Amino acid sequence: MFDLNTLVRDNIKTLKPYSSARHEFTGKASVFLDANENAYGSPLPEKFNRYPDPLQWQLKFQLARIKGVPAENIFVGNGSDEVIDLAYRIFCNPAKDNVIICPPTYGMYEVSGDINDVAIKKVNLINNFQLDVEGILATVDANTKLIFICSPNNPTGNNMRREDVEIILNNFSGIVIIDEAYINYSKQKTFIQELIEYPNLVVMQTLSKAWGLAALRLGLCYASMDIIDLFNKVKPPYNINDASQQLALEALQNTELVNEWITAAVLQKEMLIKEMGNFTFVETVYPSDANFFLMKINNAADLYTYLSDHEVVVRNRSKEPGCENCLRITIGTPEENQQLLNLLKSYK
Ligand SMILES: *Cc1c(COP(=O)(O)O)cnc(C)c1O
Repeated sequence: MFDLNTLVRDNIKTLKPYSSARHEFTGKASVFLDANENAYGSPLPEKFNRYPDPLQWQLKFQLARIKGVPAENIFVGNGSDEVIDLAYRIFCNPAKDNVIICPPTYGMYEVSGDINDVAIKKVNLINNFQLDVEGILATVDANTKLIFICSPNNPTGNNMRREDVEIILNNFSGIVIIDEAYINYSKQKTFIQELIEYPNLVVMQTLSKAWGLAALRLGLCYASMDIIDLFNKVKPPYNINDASQQLALEALQNTELVNEWITAAVLQKEMLIKEMGNFTFVETVYPSDANFFLMKINNAADLYTYLSDHEVVVRNRSKEPGCENCLRITIGTPEENQQLLNLLKSYK
């Protein structure tokens, strides 16, 4: 049923990709006069005068060890934003194809579709923000190329039921993109071990959240080698700069510290959610498997303004479907969370 060839845009299938200097020569050399770089150095303590590895192998080998996925099944993007955009550009013919998203969810799926002139079909989440599996499958048509599933979902915080995701993987012959940006905080198992079982599976993760590297812009993508080849073919040749590659490699040695922070953030989240139950203006706190939670209150705009007047900024998600009067609150340090609680205690 799944045939990658029929999904890829014709211009991408026939594309002759740019071949960079660093790409063409892979043997052993000590004098590099091939890329018009400045051989004298960089006006910095660290040297950045040479073009970076276009395929970031060192970083991928390290990720492969940590994640238990072969390096050949990993693509690194300039943030998840680049991975999302590349998926559109590889699979979706502008003004012809469409993708399915499940609001309320991450905003970039729709923005990136709009930029690429690809129609967005929306099948809202139902019953505790779970997937409307029947609705999704009924919405698929001959031009549906991608289905985006965010789990744990932003802004609601919940995991999608695994059986529902599996039904979609088994019954959709296009690409299913599972965005696991918050997987490190989740009790749910990742889908990155299922690449062999599902040739239509693409999993996204990121170093921007639990790994604490949002400024480096490193989005991860796991898929079959055939799909990874397409991402490599279409990406800008040097999409990941060398400073980010080196710093990420260093950061990835520090799994212990990151795991301590994950545990701490989850404990703080549980504490905050419990405390929220004591405020009369809080109507519902939704269960969360991420490093934030969503809550419905009596007047989101008013509380948002009150908090920002006191220099605490949260996210007002009231305009999203099913999120009327909802604020999304990211877990801060214990001190920041206490500051939030103190402010809420003196609200009204
Ligand atoms: C934060 C977030 C990302 C991360 O995006 P980057 O571009 O990698 O920083 C991806 N998906 C979701 C759902 C997010 O909330």
